[in-house]
Amino acid sequence: MVKKVLIANRGEIALRVLRACKELGISTVAVHSTADNAAMHVRLADESVCIGPPPSRDSYLNIPSIVAACEISGADAVHPGYGFLSENARFADILDAHGLTFIGPTAEHIRVMGDKIEAKRTAKRLGIPVVPGSAGAVTDDAEALKIGDEIGFPVLVKASAGGGGRGMKVARSRDDLVVALQTARAEAGAAFGDDAVYIEKYLEKPRHIEVQVFGDGAGNAIHLGERDCSLQRRHQKVWEEANSPALSPEQRRRIGEICSNAMAELRYRGAGTIEFLYENDEFYFIEMNTRLQVEHPVTEAITGMDLVHEQIRVASGEGLSATQDEIVFSGHAIECRINAEDPRTFAPSPGKISYYHAPGGLGVRVDSGVYQGYSIPPFYDSLIGKLIVHGRNRTECMMRLRRALDEIVVDGVKTTLPLFRDLVDNPDIGAGNYDIHWLEKYLAGGT
Ligand code: ADP
Repeated sequence: MVKKVLIANRGEIALRVLRACKELGISTVAVHSTADNAAMHVRLADESVCIGPPPSRDSYLNIPSIVAACEISGADAVHPGYGFLSENARFADILDAHGLTFIGPTAEHIRVMGDKIEAKRTAKRLGIPVVPGSAGAVTDDAEALKIGDEIGFPVLVKASAGGGGRGMKVARSRDDLVVALQTARAEAGAAFGDDAVYIEKYLEKPRHIEVQVFGDGAGNAIHLGERDCSLQRRHQKVWEEANSPALSPEQRRRIGEICSNAMAELRYRGAGTIEFLYENDEFYFIEMNTRLQVEHPVTEAITGMDLVHEQIRVASGEGLSATQDEIVFSGHAIECRINAEDPRTFAPSPGKISYYHAPGGLGVRVDSGVYQGYSIPPFYDSLIGKLIVHGRNRTECMMRLRRALDEIVVDGVKTTLPLFRDLVDNPDIGAGNYDIHWLEKYLAGGT
């Protein structure tokens, strides 16, 4: 088992990882920028090392500083959390070269899944259903038009190096497509330094459904069911559920098995998420994330499995703690992402939290790094906490969520809590009846 874990992250996820380490009797090292001197993850860790000034590129993304912090503290492993260096293959390689354990997959798997064209090709080879489209990058307009005619319009032009929903253009006709190719290439080149683009059928009203997988790196893999993350704004997830209100147990078993078989064949190691768009009873792979996701607690709630414990076990070479037959899905869970943002315009709202009260009671979990008197720095993303609620079924879960949202108080800054108080009473949300466009339409006043 690893002995001392350096947590290369901040905020709620740093705390989340720290808690798992404490439970396993593993020492913890927090790293932080000068803006995070008073952060909770720094206070709770066994040791802490300041790794630089506030901008992420000088601190949380600064690989030499993080490696130096491992050497100073004697950490033998690094947990990257999500974001920052979690999907940086070079970081995984460098840790390896220093004899440090990266708590995550191999650098090679991070690299393959980080390139969208390569990821899609790999997924297809492993038997995962993909969105119909070009076989790889399209460089030629005539070829693009031929593909458009074959799969049918509308189509989506996507950047191979894209991320965070950037570098995508919808084309509704042949004329549109020629323009879309040009603008997508130019934008991708400018934003990512790589102008490779590819074409996919544009799905009009899909849900976003993702499957949690875990591999031991030796050819064994399991799935932990799915999460429905269709409630999004600008491709950012806002509310997540497990299981999806749209799937039957048989559909869950089927897509889960496809994913776990694929991961076994790939000899994937650690936690991963295979993301799909789901429309008319069909699944279409869009990407794989090779890290722990923000929304992992809803999966923990319905399986009872601690995903960070599991990551550490696998990284320590101890294999998976459960076989597929031992995984039992129980009840329903919902997560609300509490952002320090205006609940309507989503403009960031950093500043001091003047009053804070966390909700409690059966089935209620809050993962957050904030406390009363804490000042949210303006340098990082605005996620300040997650409210996760579990019930024996979706109805009970929604009742409990409504109650927990009544109890929680975060004063001094604007938060997205008022949005969730509206959503929990909305009939479409109550019925689980929404697709990936629902939230934006609702916010625009159209629902
Ligand atoms: P990124 O890495 O930029 O997040 P994804 O491939 O995951 O890119 O796509 C982001 C979002 O774009 C999806 O969640 C979905 O809302 C939309 N999207 C992607 N591909 C398609 C498609 N073929 N049809 C319709 N919407 C799509």
